[in-house]
Amino acid sequence: MGWALIGASNVARQWIVDAIRAQADSSIVTVLSSSEERGAKFAAETGIPAHTTDIDTILADDRVDAVYISTANEFHCNQTLAAARAGKNVLCEKPVALTIPNAREMIATCHTAGVILGVNHHLRCNAMHQKLRQLLAEGVIGSLNAVRVFHANFLPRLLQGWRINDTQGGGLILDSTIHDIDTLRFLMGCNPTHVMAMTQSGRLAHDGVEDGIMVVMRFPGDVLVQIHGSYTVPFSEGGVEFYGSEGVLVGRDCMSQRAAGRLFMRNAEGEKEIPVHHHNLYHYALAAFSNAVRGAGQPAATGEDGLAALTIALAIRDAARTGRQIKVEIP
Ligand code: NDP
Repeated sequence: MGWALIGASNVARQWIVDAIRAQADSSIVTVLSSSEERGAKFAAETGIPAHTTDIDTILADDRVDAVYISTANEFHCNQTLAAARAGKNVLCEKPVALTIPNAREMIATCHTAGVILGVNHHLRCNAMHQKLRQLLAEGVIGSLNAVRVFHANFLPRLLQGWRINDTQGGGLILDSTIHDIDTLRFLMGCNPTHVMAMTQSGRLAHDGVEDGIMVVMRFPGDVLVQIHGSYTVPFSEGGVEFYGSEGVLVGRDCMSQRAAGRLFMRNAEGEKEIPVHHHNLYHYALAAFSNAVRGAGQPAATGEDGLAALTIALAIRDAARTGRQIKVEIP
């Protein structure tokens, strides 16, 4: 499978180049950057044989079967549409798009073109979350009452760019809270019906871009869910807690990009750790996507998953901005 990287990004350099190369019969043909200099440097440093500033050369290249789009968020939609129309399969970074109509058009265009659309919500590829999902589905803690998600950290200096100053594509909600939403959808197998939220701004982010959030959501079955997210909290450990009628499941250190996370269950018999056999999240995502392109299964997160997560994230943003409770309606 031949790949083109659309975007000379940090996430591509840190995780995806390696994850593509870990797949059987897969190679990276070229990388697109809007800057000749950045593209050349990226290609040289990652050993990619070519680079370009012109997306059309990628779209016309028969060696390219799939593109990985990790440009800034406002470009995801148009680059996906162009790639799909040229018959390329698309693994797109989250948020899949900035608007619901754009996300729907991406899904429809990929469908019409007969290409796969995946969205890189990596946390559902974490083995601890996969184990937790299985235990929840088996009902080991009885009927679910409430959930808490902890996803606060201090944004590394390298990432203190568009995330903290872009009023359209930046901000914690579309960058990080959207991952929490996708993870909750994955773990619980359903979508929230209502959301409320309050945000912070000004500790790192400016121009009203949010850098901290508390979200409260209602899920089907009258399950209350809380998320705390932040760019400005050092020394915090990400985690999840699921409270059921028969016990509690606690996931610790499980909201990062690393193959990490420890799972504990507490009930009438006491507390025990549940073993987890970890794997690289991005290798897992790329394997699922590559298999889907080859006709087996689906990407770890589909275009529809990306649309649902975006819809809920936008409802949360709306709730924070208006101070109202927002009913969630997934298109
Ligand atoms: P970067 O800021 O590293 O890259 C985004 C774009 O910014 C690049 O495409 C590049 O444009 C441009 N850029 C990169 N370096 C510079 C620079 N030094 N000066 C000016 N412009 C530069 O973003 P991230 O890698 O953090 O995020 C990219 C996408 O991936 C986002 O959509 C984000 O939400 C998502 N993401 C997903 C993660 C996941 O685990 N699923 C983790 C992190 C991010 P050009 O390509 O034109 O050179």
